[in-house]
Amino acid sequence: MNKIEIIPLGGIGEFGMNCMGIRYGDEMIVVDAGMGFPEETPYGVDISIPNFDFLDEFADDLTALILTHGHEDHIGALPYFLKKFNLPVYASRFTIALADKRLSEHKMMDDVLLHRVEANDVTKIGSFEIEYIHASHSLIDCFSLAIKTPVGTIIHTGDYKIDETPVIGKPYDLKTLKKYGDEGVLLLLGDSTNATIAGRTPSEREVIPAFEELFAAAEGRIIVSTFSSSLHRLQVVFDVAHAYDRKVCVLGRSMVKNIEIASDLGLLDIPHKTLVELGESRSLDNDQIVYLVTGSQGESRAALWNMASSSHKGLAIEKGDTVVLSARIIPGNDRAISRLIGQIYKHGGNIIEEKRRLIHVSGHASQEDIKIMVETARPKFVVPIHGEYRMLFRHKEYIKNHIEGYTDDNVILIENGDVLELNENSATVVEHNDVGKTFIDEAVSEEIDYEIVRERKKLGFSGLITLVVAVDKETKKLKSEPQITIQGVAGINPLNGLLQNVRQSVAEVVTQTKRENFQDKKFMAETLRIHLKRLIQQEIGTKPVIVSTVVEV
Ligand SMILES: [Zn+2]
Repeated sequence: MNKIEIIPLGGIGEFGMNCMGIRYGDEMIVVDAGMGFPEETPYGVDISIPNFDFLDEFADDLTALILTHGHEDHIGALPYFLKKFNLPVYASRFTIALADKRLSEHKMMDDVLLHRVEANDVTKIGSFEIEYIHASHSLIDCFSLAIKTPVGTIIHTGDYKIDETPVIGKPYDLKTLKKYGDEGVLLLLGDSTNATIAGRTPSEREVIPAFEELFAAAEGRIIVSTFSSSLHRLQVVFDVAHAYDRKVCVLGRSMVKNIEIASDLGLLDIPHKTLVELGESRSLDNDQIVYLVTGSQGESRAALWNMASSSHKGLAIEKGDTVVLSARIIPGNDRAISRLIGQIYKHGGNIIEEKRRLIHVSGHASQEDIKIMVETARPKFVVPIHGEYRMLFRHKEYIKNHIEGYTDDNVILIENGDVLELNENSATVVEHNDVGKTFIDEAVSEEIDYEIVRERKKLGFSGLITLVVAVDKETKKLKSEPQITIQGVAGINPLNGLLQNVRQSVAEVVTQTKRENFQDKKFMAETLRIHLKRLIQQEIGTKPVIVSTVVEV
């Protein structure tokens, strides 16, 4: 049985929810358990996770979960995964520190087995032998994986860019990657997030000059907002602040927590006495302080939005402030960010955006980085992962057109739920399953049934009509006029006569219904619901949610 199966559960054809099963015989390892941020957010769904039920049929085969790095789209579903399959987890110390945070929120710390591994450690798990390759990315302590199997070696890039001068830690470890390339790589699973972007992704260090210029020029307070996981960026802010005699005050829960974790592990180097508490920051002159805050995506509960709209712990944006948005716009957040920028201007703050200055660089491989990756690993097959279909497609096209030896036969596009079967000579999708996703309400950390989300969508889209019909217990005749309550339905109101017609029509149906049909009240209610539904659709052309009840009095 000389074959390997690659089974992605998420992250292919979408942003987020990265998760992939790799199976040999009756053994299966899983790489990453990420979460996503679904379009259904307005319907009370905070996050989505892969549908792990799909792995039920392999439950006895599962041996380990490997995490490439600590971004939410790679570890956010960890508690939900481990509740279902309590596997040993292998990850770097920083990734584990972030995972600890998630697991303790779910009170799961005592039940799970977390193995800390370092770059170039090798873990043997059954037939799999995994070497962790140091990868550069916007986060720190990230890995690409070299997974040796009896069929061949698989390189899973994780998220990466080829950064030769990162702010924290070493450059991408191309030497180890080349070692595998020389030995022979069967398959490369490659990050596609930036595959549509030409050239090389700039190094994390390249933002330093712009920060220095901004700090030199600013006369008032400086407020820098970035992702709390962009550790290189945080280090730059601390270093430049120190160089320009400013103290740094950190605001926002996730930012405070990540800085604490990273500096405890010695990964973030905060210059002596640079970090100050909020109280001390207030006593400093405006040109002596930098606020490092959460909320670069315009999130309505984050520190920056609070400062821009009213105040955050008594701090508000004011004239003379320079606000630096050192982050990219995550798709879907454009409006919230635009609203945020408007508020900052309204209060007299000046905005420095990514578009105007080099204050942000991506953490993902652009086309030239991809070229370096593929030419170093020289895999027989490439499968683009991590990205929307457009990015996967362009990743494939780029490799075909710019790297010798790659064609449609060995750069293969797959989808979530596919089973890609690999042997030494071929890679074929042999099966497709609909994997779907699971919605989570984070407030209660509970799964939300898709039916509920669909119902909420319908309610939000076309409103609700409630019908209550009261009939006499004995005669089954109407006791009073049918009661109809309307919420959020356009085109029907007490004034336009429509409501009266609807009431009458329902009353007629009740009158015409035979007495025995009232034995089953549920059946009767359903009959009235369908009648009302047709009527409303005919009259106003929409399909509101209709709830009908029959009561006997
Ligand atoms: Zn990442």
